Amino acid sequence: MLSYSTQLIEDDDIVEVIKALKSNLLAQGPRVAKFEEDLCVYTGARYAIAFNSATSALFGAYSVAGIKKDDEIITTPISFVATSNMFITLGAKPIWCDIKTDGNIDETKIEALITKKTKAIVPVDYAGKPVEIKTIQKIAKKHKLLLIQDSSHALGSSVMGQKIGSFSDMTIFSFHAIKPITTSEGGAVLTNNKEFAEALRAFRSHGMVKKRLWDSDMTSLGYNLRMTEVAGALGSSQLKKLDRFIQTRAKIANYFNERFEDTKLFSTQKIEQNSVSSRHLYPIMLASELLDKKEEIFAELQKRGLGVQVHYKPIYKNSFYKERFGEISLPMADNFYNSEISIPCNQTMSMEDAKYVADTLLETLRNML
Ligand SMILES: *Cc1c(COP(=O)(O)O)cnc(C)c1O
Repeated sequence: MLSYSTQLIEDDDIVEVIKALKSNLLAQGPRVAKFEEDLCVYTGARYAIAFNSATSALFGAYSVAGIKKDDEIITTPISFVATSNMFITLGAKPIWCDIKTDGNIDETKIEALITKKTKAIVPVDYAGKPVEIKTIQKIAKKHKLLLIQDSSHALGSSVMGQKIGSFSDMTIFSFHAIKPITTSEGGAVLTNNKEFAEALRAFRSHGMVKKRLWDSDMTSLGYNLRMTEVAGALGSSQLKKLDRFIQTRAKIANYFNERFEDTKLFSTQKIEQNSVSSRHLYPIMLASELLDKKEEIFAELQKRGLGVQVHYKPIYKNSFYKERFGEISLPMADNFYNSEISIPCNQTMSMEDAKYVADTLLETLRNML
């Protein structure tokens, strides 16, 4: 099965993991610190704080940002549930803003949602395509809102030559198995703000600060959300390969773009001239004639070896959220969910695989008309 996204673990990654396993420190130690430093060098951000998942990293970022009960957060419904779930944990309310045809938050619709209770804007770089970050930055600044970017898909993406990671007050990356690089499970918050960085370090580790000799002091409420040394070792090793992984995915994506240029069966996500996408996903949006066949199409593609998936069911459509906030419908997000399929585009695929995916997809869809 060719998967919409998958990890690529190579021998040198395994060597680094074994070294970590044989070392004295298995929990938080020099390998995690090295991985954090590597993330800073790669993205240009001043501080990186590693966590055991992006969900934990989001929890940490929202917490140190002071997000609390009854605050409103403007965010996108087209994301993994964790983006909104971590607001609920803090008693805050996600206000979902509709999206554009590319799956990213519609920046022109953000301002109308701002109220006295709004505390932050949390966009997601869907599939790795950067959001209109300059416009969103201006809105956040004008209304004195925090900007927290869930860039779980977008490690390696950039806008006008600047890597995602330092555009926002805090930026979150995921190193889950099938994200742009992996630490098996893992995540990080990147920030240029020293206070946020220090608060995040305390938050992930019991709120304790070392004093002298045996003495430490717990000065804030914290948890244990730390990354292991094994994960940190894998992270540094994987990060060295990120540009190669992205190159491979970009080559496949560019081939798909050419193959699909003239098709009326579906549309694809266009990447702006001035930006680079990590190509975490390659989404296609089915034409309206095919929408009622989506289940059949999905099953047929799976049967023919294409590990497709749908990203995402709008978060407000989950029963947990329906019970709390009632029936919500945003037309663009609903349409996107009805039409989107993520097709295989990952760094383990050959160009022959890519050709098979394009041929199979076009043939399957033509047969459905
Ligand atoms: C994967 C993902 C997360 C959660 O990441 P984990 O590392 O699995 O906790 C959060 N937000 C988005 C947009 C994601 O894709």
